[in-house]
Amino acid sequence: MKKRKNFLVFGKPYIGEEEISEVVDTLRSGWWGTGPKVERFENKFREYIGSQFVDAVSSATAGLHLALKVLGVGPGDEVITTPMTFCSTVNVIIHCGAKPVFVDIDIDDWNIDPREVEKKITKRTKVILPVHLHGRPCKMNEILSLASEHELYVVGDAAHAIEAEYQGSKVGNLGDIAVFSFYVTKNLATGEGGMVTTNNPLWARKIKIMSLHGLSRDAYKRYSAKVFKHYRVLVPGFKYNMTDIQASIGIHQLARIEENSKIRKKYWQMYNNALKDFPELVLPKSEAEGTYHARHLYAILLRLERLEITRDKFINKLIEMNIGSGVHFYPVHLHPFYKESFGFKRGDFPNAEFVGERTVSLPLGANLTDKDINDVIEAVRGIIKKNRK
Ligand SMILES: *Cc1c(COP(=O)(O)O)cnc(C)c1O
Repeated sequence: MKKRKNFLVFGKPYIGEEEISEVVDTLRSGWWGTGPKVERFENKFREYIGSQFVDAVSSATAGLHLALKVLGVGPGDEVITTPMTFCSTVNVIIHCGAKPVFVDIDIDDWNIDPREVEKKITKRTKVILPVHLHGRPCKMNEILSLASEHELYVVGDAAHAIEAEYQGSKVGNLGDIAVFSFYVTKNLATGEGGMVTTNNPLWARKIKIMSLHGLSRDAYKRYSAKVFKHYRVLVPGFKYNMTDIQASIGIHQLARIEENSKIRKKYWQMYNNALKDFPELVLPKSEAEGTYHARHLYAILLRLERLEITRDKFINKLIEMNIGSGVHFYPVHLHPFYKESFGFKRGDFPNAEFVGERTVSLPLGANLTDKDINDVIEAVRGIIKKNRK
């Protein structure tokens, strides 16, 4: 095993000259806030997803909070979601004063298991919040039919899943509201940023107002006003708007999204081919028919019973080889806050815990080279061979 010369940073964003020029243009324009670039980015994103309405926001966390707020989620309500997600999916439920209700994942695809969802629906359930983990679409037919049967809303956490498709539709166009993340490591990065999509005009209007202090919509367009306009506060909103600086990056990231997706697809296949003969590893399952996996994260599971080392040792050995990796995710219910506040304990969601203890995300990004991927492959194979039982 040869150590790489330089450290392979996990999740480094792809950046082109177009982004840089656009940011410079925005800086020189003097309008840095929410303005024409945000509008341009929103229009392009709306076209890409095929939804009727979008709102650019400061993060997916902000977008998820807004989504639950406009659906009226509050004290006494329950929101069903997966413990196999980033903490903010759950924190926003708590910010609304509602109770997060976890449902275990399907051990096959690591997404929320609709059969388990049904068991957890009560009179207080208001929303199902599926997370398209790593970019793999959830079983939306099952989830949507449960929702319509029990009169529940569906809010999709599509932070990993901009390109993901389910039976001919982008996942961002399914359910009541979907939310995307443009955090640095995501498939489309703006540093910090997010987008909310919906086909409901009332929610769209409310989200737009709530994302900027609750100001009347005209205020959002003040940059182009030909006559002076007062703003009016309609509701106590949030400061969740996106800036034109962020949108400048987003416009060009979006233009390259399909191209980048193809590059990641190629690397995905390289990993699959090179690692498939290792019984110590579980590789990501292939796509279900009629779906497209957005391939945000290439996560493998280590079969710990076949290895002499723990998952964390494996990650540290990758670091010794100058390769960064990630864990997506440590199950949310096992973090101290949720254990202490809701009484969750080890054993509550065995599938999520099984995956959470064994998962490692290998570097996957359009800015990587074939050589980078081959370095990772060589390191993984070497570490496994040296440490197998
Ligand atoms: C990144 C992420 C978020 C939060 O995104 P931000 O834009 O950083 O707020 C939410 N859910 C999942 C599954 C994520 O990976």
